[in-house]
Amino acid sequence: MKSILVTGGAGYIGSHVVQQLTARGERVVVVDNLVSGFREAVGSAGLVVGNVGDQALMARVLQEHQVDAVLHFAAHTVVPESVRDPLKYYGNNTCNTRNLLACCVDAGVRRIIFSSTAAVYGMPVGGIADEQTPTQPINPYGMSKLMSETMLRDLGTAGAMDYVILRYFNVAGCDPQGRIGQSTPNATLLLKVACEHAVGRRGQLFIFGTDYDTPDGTGIRDYIHVVDLATAHLRALDHLRNQGESLTLNCGYGHGYSVREVIDAVQRVCGHALNVVEQPRRAGDPPMLIARADELRQRLGWEPAHDDLDFTVRTALAWERHLLAQAMDQH
Ligand code: UDP
Repeated sequence: MKSILVTGGAGYIGSHVVQQLTARGERVVVVDNLVSGFREAVGSAGLVVGNVGDQALMARVLQEHQVDAVLHFAAHTVVPESVRDPLKYYGNNTCNTRNLLACCVDAGVRRIIFSSTAAVYGMPVGGIADEQTPTQPINPYGMSKLMSETMLRDLGTAGAMDYVILRYFNVAGCDPQGRIGQSTPNATLLLKVACEHAVGRRGQLFIFGTDYDTPDGTGIRDYIHVVDLATAHLRALDHLRNQGESLTLNCGYGHGYSVREVIDAVQRVCGHALNVVEQPRRAGDPPMLIARADELRQRLGWEPAHDDLDFTVRTALAWERHLLAQAMDQH
């Protein structure tokens, strides 16, 4: 039986995809260097600890596991860090993707699903982006992903590869059954940070910018539940297996929530008020970023199951409570 290679499968989004793949009986091998991933997050999938830029390792994995499709998640993803240390991002995200693609071409692996980001759009006019919106990243993270996208499109044109590029908007929430979640230390993402504060692991929650040209003055984002995002990857895999053409697709719900609306949802779900501190805008944050996401539905037949902010918050908060209990056990 052929295997699916999932790079970064021990990380937040990758592990949710691995969970769905193994649940439907796929054979999965994960390659993850465990820098930001967790061994226990891969469940019953095979785990090879190593770097995706290591061509000798990747050639061996592709061959030994008879890989016929790659889902490539492994990446650094912290935008401010990419501004401080761009070469870290171009190295890990762009150069390592180039090496991985070279190994795939050599091994005759033609199918790849690539984790890209709404950050490739930068600050789109009107705050809404469809897949034809010009790509103008405003930070090295977005650019590192766009460069990888470009390699894939060029390989597609050369007839060497079939791909689905998925551009994630704001990913949030966790496995509703609480088996895996978002464990990233030093989190910066709004919902994760808000839930850490709600369970008492942070003393306050900052709102970055209350003077945007939005109805309540705070930034608006399109938050997609990680389980729905994971499902999009399985649909993309099926699409490529059915000889579908290469695609670039936004992943979001097509509508958004402001920072204040997210905070209200966390307060509703946790049942107490949060200590919210208003701060100036964070550099590089667009006022609004929403996906036009019709293509994902039309091309892959994807339908969201969890387009419900309170549900997303409940799953995220449950995981945060789990992490807190774990931390207390260890003391
Ligand atoms: N944000 C905030 N406080 C935080 C983290 C984020 O007010 O502690 C805001 C941020 O300015 C943006 C939105 O929440 O408007 C989403 O930010 P996040 O970092 O989660 O994702 P991004 O959209 O930057 O990828």
